[in-house]
Amino acid sequence: MHSALLKQACYVAGQWVTAHDGATDPVINPSTGQIIAQVPRMGREMTLAAIDAAQQAQQQWKQTTAKARSVILRRWYALMMEHIDDLATIMTTEQGKPFVEAKGEITYAASFVEWFAEEAKRAYGEVIPSHKTDARILASREPMGVVGAITPWNFPAAMITRKCAPAFAAGCGVVLKPAPDTPLCALALAVLAEEAGIPAGLFNVVTGDAQAIGGALTDSKTVKKISFTGSTAVGKLLMAQSAATVKKLSLELGGNAPFIVCDDADLDAAIEGIMIAKFRNAGQTCVCANRIYVHDAVYDAFTEKLVARVQALKVGDGFAPEVQIGPLINAAAVAKVQSHIDDALAKGARLAYGEPQPAGSFLFPPQVLVEMTDTMRIANEETFGPVAALFRFNDDADVIARANATDSGLAAYAYTRSLQRAFRFSEGLEYGMVGINEGLISTEVAPFGGIKESGLGREGGRQGLDDYLETKYTLLGGL
Ligand code: ADP
Repeated sequence: MHSALLKQACYVAGQWVTAHDGATDPVINPSTGQIIAQVPRMGREMTLAAIDAAQQAQQQWKQTTAKARSVILRRWYALMMEHIDDLATIMTTEQGKPFVEAKGEITYAASFVEWFAEEAKRAYGEVIPSHKTDARILASREPMGVVGAITPWNFPAAMITRKCAPAFAAGCGVVLKPAPDTPLCALALAVLAEEAGIPAGLFNVVTGDAQAIGGALTDSKTVKKISFTGSTAVGKLLMAQSAATVKKLSLELGGNAPFIVCDDADLDAAIEGIMIAKFRNAGQTCVCANRIYVHDAVYDAFTEKLVARVQALKVGDGFAPEVQIGPLINAAAVAKVQSHIDDALAKGARLAYGEPQPAGSFLFPPQVLVEMTDTMRIANEETFGPVAALFRFNDDADVIARANATDSGLAAYAYTRSLQRAFRFSEGLEYGMVGINEGLISTEVAPFGGIKESGLGREGGRQGLDDYLETKYTLLGGL
């Protein structure tokens, strides 16, 4: 382990700092329940210092060339890949996901840095045909300024890079508040950012009191934008808090993804898709399939194939060989997943497969529930756990209407061999992202994001840079 990566201090104005009063919060390994580190419990005061530092650094940074910013970002990308094993070790220790998956996330996280190193050079403006003969009209792109970023624990590295990389590429500064469960990945990424040449003050990481840090970020007139990934409830709160200063917002909030398996689907492909879309990260992703709608004609065959695959999943400590499902993040997550199962069983669902949850641990063995109905909690709330819930359908229009009957609109999936049905689902599903015959849609090259109450803005793709740029219109008159 490159021991310099394991930091128990915040990174503000290019300095590694602890709280004046020595206050800390523990970081817990969800596989063992052991405290693995302590990070500073900061609040408003340190956040304001970080905002000032970000503003000062950003004033210089925005004047650098896109190429200069690109070179530094590319170095950050290379350092992440060079330290992939150490970063993944930190991730599995604080988050629990299997080590192989943690390495996959580091590669995914680094891919955003590489992508935006390239996109930095493509923040093109426009010359617009003028309405006057003696004038010219320019629309140029400028960085928004200081960004407040707040991230969740389920992807402790990727959620950071897909905000920070486009922000830096655009010429912005960042004050980041990582999730309290997984601050160590964020701090390790800051070590590497510093080594890559991100200037002091441009990237600040403040751990501690979420309300105090979030309040300082949203109150500040210097912070021009909030970029948040997390629960819909906190997203709405930050949106309300941002109203007083009319901040720009990128919000990536909860999902409740439908996964539709038609009677003409390649069932084996659909099973491969659901194993990823349902069980990746122990079901703790916002694009996880929550409601699996299977056509009557293939319901029993699909269930049988799925149970066979789920039975073979190995659950345990993410460092143990061949483990595919690590622990859930904490006791509250375990209780929520169990309550969704209990609710479904009480309302008439049947457990097709599932071992009981071992008391006293955060491990949750995967479950398959069948004969689900639309009044059950899983039909209406994101479960965030390894529970495959199978609903029946027999009509495309009906299943599209049921799939759309939610306030969420993040990801949806459909499996069919018919091109006509593929377009019917792609166009009919009210979601920001649709996977047709594919269960893994996340990639740095595509615009990730939701509609309805799943959020605002897009991360990744060409569009990911737009979220950190303002358009400046200049009219050159009297020519
Ligand atoms: P989850 O339920 O997945 O933990 P949250 O929305 O609670 O989702 O958390 C996502 C991020 O939002 C975390 O970094 C968390 O600390 C932060 N957060 C939670 N409450 C607030 C708040 N009132 N203000 C700012 N950030 C918050």
